[in-house]
Amino acid sequence: MAESKNIAGIRDDFPLLSRRVHGEPLAYLDNAATTQKPRQVLDAMEQYYVRHNANIHRGVHTLAGEATDAYEGAREKVARFIGARSQDIIFTKNATEALNIPAYGLGLGRDDAVMVTELEHHANFVPWQQQCIRTGARFLIARQQDGMVDIEQVKELVAGLRRTTRGPANGTTTAPKLRVLAVTQTSNALGTNQNIRELADIAHDAGALLVADGAQCIPHQPTDVRKIGADFLAFSGHKMLGPTGIGVLWGTEDALSELSPFIMGGDMIRKVGKEDTEFAELPHRFEAGTPPIAEAVGLGAAVDYLSSLGMEQVHEHVGLLGRKAREALSVIDGVRVLGDAGITADGRNANASGIASFTAPAHPHDMSTLLDAQGIAVRGGHHCAMPLMAALGVNGTTRASFYVYNDIAEVRLFTDAVAGIAARWQHE
Ligand code: PMP
Repeated sequence: MAESKNIAGIRDDFPLLSRRVHGEPLAYLDNAATTQKPRQVLDAMEQYYVRHNANIHRGVHTLAGEATDAYEGAREKVARFIGARSQDIIFTKNATEALNIPAYGLGLGRDDAVMVTELEHHANFVPWQQQCIRTGARFLIARQQDGMVDIEQVKELVAGLRRTTRGPANGTTTAPKLRVLAVTQTSNALGTNQNIRELADIAHDAGALLVADGAQCIPHQPTDVRKIGADFLAFSGHKMLGPTGIGVLWGTEDALSELSPFIMGGDMIRKVGKEDTEFAELPHRFEAGTPPIAEAVGLGAAVDYLSSLGMEQVHEHVGLLGRKAREALSVIDGVRVLGDAGITADGRNANASGIASFTAPAHPHDMSTLLDAQGIAVRGGHHCAMPLMAALGVNGTTRASFYVYNDIAEVRLFTDAVAGIAARWQHE
């Protein structure tokens, strides 16, 4: 593991951050979309290609062995990072693919129900919705309030399923069984953090699995999968300093063994006969074809880098920047900050993330374009969360999202720029 690092002064590790945009120093505040990569990650990937590149698992030559060790070593690093066993870590292309594996693999049917929430990114909404349409399973959507899942309504929906309903003509009774509760840990559009443990308990009491979308949470806070109560957890490498093209699905052994493989081909088999195929053991059963080897190596280096910073320190730093930004935005005339739900009943700060999402007199696309002209990169739009935007009654928001290399000066630069744009817009 890399030596321990202090978060102040890490900017030099990120070559891209020295760029200028429209003649201004870049303030990169679009980290919820993707993060920049430190030299350590870029070097690890380059070294892999320069010295070790080969296909994994099947070869007996030296390079094949080195490539296999590099790939499997990355799996062990990722496993350690979230307190998991390495055989329960499945490498995917991204969080989206990771969420599709249980959506397709659970073999949903007419007697099943799936519940998602209004907060979901499309990646944790559309696969479930479409599988329910295809299989006749019931699709339920739990409400949110101020960016928090309405727990009471989740319980009511579960109880509603339990109440047996009378079938159509023949008097038979049907009661779909809840198979899955799929919830985001941190909303990518608002930054609010859900209590996954509580939701997992509700799911488990109903005999269902809890699928957690950790795409915005794993990069920001220490995670121990043995404690959060989820059965599946999905996240993307590129949102945590790693490269694009690599994601992770973690599952408990029991949950993973409930899944049928969804993509079939080489590398995921033990034995292929003319009549049938025996699948490989975990995790290879879910990794058909040549995997993203260099990308896994890059993710391993990213995990080392984050561990050298310390995830407690990352969480504190990123949470502070998000809070300062929301505070400064909330006093600007005409600006409305969304997803600042305060302290929850269990004493947690509901938004300890590095996300500040807001509406202003200027449309999010105009706001983002005007900020870009000042070298400030943020995102404006629906953030792949159209059901949430509809529930909030807005067509989109402007979102700044902070990460380890951002600092208070950038928060101030950004919030002053928003204040200037909002004031000019109102007077035009
Ligand atoms: N879930 C959440 C909460 C996200 O923010 C994202 C990415 N914006 C995803 C899932 C999907 O990640 P990817 O595009 O890397 O598959």
